[in-house]
Amino acid sequence: MITTIGFDADDTLWQNESFFRLTQDRFTALLADYAGADHLHDRLLAAERRNLGHYGFGVKGFTLSMIETAIEITESRVPAAVIAEIMAAGREMLAHPVELLPHAEAAVTTLARDHRVILVTKGDLLDQERKLAQSGLGDLFHAVEIVSDKTPAVYASIFARHGDGAERALMVGNSLKSDVIPAIAAGGWGAHVPHGLIWALEHADPPLGNPRFLTLGDLGELADAVEAIKSNHNI
Ligand SMILES: [Mg+2]
Repeated sequence: MITTIGFDADDTLWQNESFFRLTQDRFTALLADYAGADHLHDRLLAAERRNLGHYGFGVKGFTLSMIETAIEITESRVPAAVIAEIMAAGREMLAHPVELLPHAEAAVTTLARDHRVILVTKGDLLDQERKLAQSGLGDLFHAVEIVSDKTPAVYASIFARHGDGAERALMVGNSLKSDVIPAIAAGGWGAHVPHGLIWALEHADPPLGNPRFLTLGDLGELADAVEAIKSNHNI
């Protein structure tokens, strides 16, 4: 039955969104003379949404969207020193030490005993490779997929290549929109582990009532949940 487990990385295995929020606070302080926090956040979010198709997900795109927003909000009067600060903030994010979330290592270790475990993440290629290396979890995974977006077709392809197809796979992650809903649409199972902080562009409604959808309090519940699915389906 379930032979393959896909793990999201950011805010599932390690902290991520909290660093974006800290940088956004720094950005707000840098531009406090030009705009209030709420207005600035709205403009930044609009820039990020606009730019996703050009830059993809990750810190580099976020940095460019902050610069673009700073130019807009100041009507092109933003000092070069502020641009330099924004770029420095982006570089600091790309060098920030990895902070594993509770149960992350134990969950991957336990599931890897009887399943193929695959890391499936979006974001900047170099940054995600760095975080995986620093996390110490790299050797536990049978495969690592750093993708430009998480669509049903992407999940179908990954689980076909590294497992026995999406029907025999479960994807676990903090984002309903990226981890859970498209994995279920591909024919698999989706386990949601809410993180608490989520990026506005990752919001989606839970697929309540879908028999292949489950919600977990934390990753410590994952191994038992997978066993429960297997025994409920009598296989
Ligand atoms: Mg995530």
